[in-house]
Amino acid sequence: MIPSFTISKKSQHYLALEEQYGAHNYHPLPVVLDRGEGVYLWDVDGKRYYDFLSGYSAVNQGHCHPRIIATLIEQAQKLTLTSRAFYNDLLGEYAKYITDYFGYDKVLPMNTGVEAVETALKLCRHWAYLIKGIPENKAKIIVCANNFHGRTLNVISFSTDPTARNDFGPFMPGYEVIPFNNLSALEQALQDKNVAGFLVEPIQGEAGVVVPEEGYLAKAKQYCQDANVLFIADEIQTGLARTGKMLACDHESVRPDILILGKALSGGTLPISAVLADDEIMLTIKPGEHGSTYGGNPLACKVAITSLQVLKDENMAEHAAEMGILLRLGLQDLHSPYITTVRGKGLLNAIIIQHKNPEAAWDLCLALKENGLLAKPTHGDKIRFAPPLPITSGQVADCVEIIKRSLEQAFS
Ligand code: PLP
Repeated sequence: MIPSFTISKKSQHYLALEEQYGAHNYHPLPVVLDRGEGVYLWDVDGKRYYDFLSGYSAVNQGHCHPRIIATLIEQAQKLTLTSRAFYNDLLGEYAKYITDYFGYDKVLPMNTGVEAVETALKLCRHWAYLIKGIPENKAKIIVCANNFHGRTLNVISFSTDPTARNDFGPFMPGYEVIPFNNLSALEQALQDKNVAGFLVEPIQGEAGVVVPEEGYLAKAKQYCQDANVLFIADEIQTGLARTGKMLACDHESVRPDILILGKALSGGTLPISAVLADDEIMLTIKPGEHGSTYGGNPLACKVAITSLQVLKDENMAEHAAEMGILLRLGLQDLHSPYITTVRGKGLLNAIIIQHKNPEAAWDLCLALKENGLLAKPTHGDKIRFAPPLPITSGQVADCVEIIKRSLEQAFS
């Protein structure tokens, strides 16, 4: 049985406010948080939790990382927004920093992840017409089934998730969906001379941390290169040390033609995203063809530099690789009949729950919450386990114990 599950009066107050005045576009776990530090979150009643979602991997560096917060405060007192109508003293510095960091000629700064995806798709189409020479309006971009790239109308046009699409049509043409982790499907799709790009998550995060076979990314990149098609990696969730390398593509030494970053670029403080590419692609965009009021604002630039610096200074990629191994081993050693699969890379992991109760994953998350660990089901039976990267081996062991206890309580 799930331990007696109560919501305090204080928490109920906040739940009711959101319920009454906020759109019902999310289904949150009933916990109301008001503080975070490192791997921990606290609710309004002062109870402490391990955060096993990390703001969908936005908080890789840990909650309220002192260096990131100090940068945020310092810059916020000086200059926050100029718009791109004028120059500011930080965009150039940031552009140099991030392009050196990832080895590209240019960056295009945006805010949310989906805006960066839109940017990459626009860049890809522009390149297709201006450089590759695809006839007008014929450019096609290949995407993968079960993708998640955000929720704008264009991006849901190539989603295969009925919840994301139903009653939102008509949709944008120009996309072809192929199965993920299927090289022959890619090879076949690339036969079409009008293909401009292949957009892929190196590990499908929202789909439940689906890790492709080893060699998939490297071969896919090679096929794209041979077909003069841009390999576009959406590393919004997988990037920035989350999977045990700076980029998930680094596991196979793949350099995307267009790299999309977001989330942890600000360590969870601001919406900051970025698209990186070389000149041949990036310089197809001319003034007025794309932009955003907040994109490249000085506050974001300064925060992004510190957020990236912290990842390197604190060896977060290597640490995530080590802690990920410990976490998966710990979960496998539970030999729970209710966990059919433990999978992931670095600290981007998921378990698949098997139980006759279709709400079992949700119930387990409620039990985990009662025991001091916050995680959320994705697509019904999967639960993502993605703590902030500074988690220690002792904390990993503690969390495995919490998961063990919660499994017993939820399913006994
Ligand atoms: N792409 C991927 C791979 C994501 O995981 C997400 C968000 O979860 C997005 C794009 C969209 O990012 P945002 O919610 O910041 O628009």
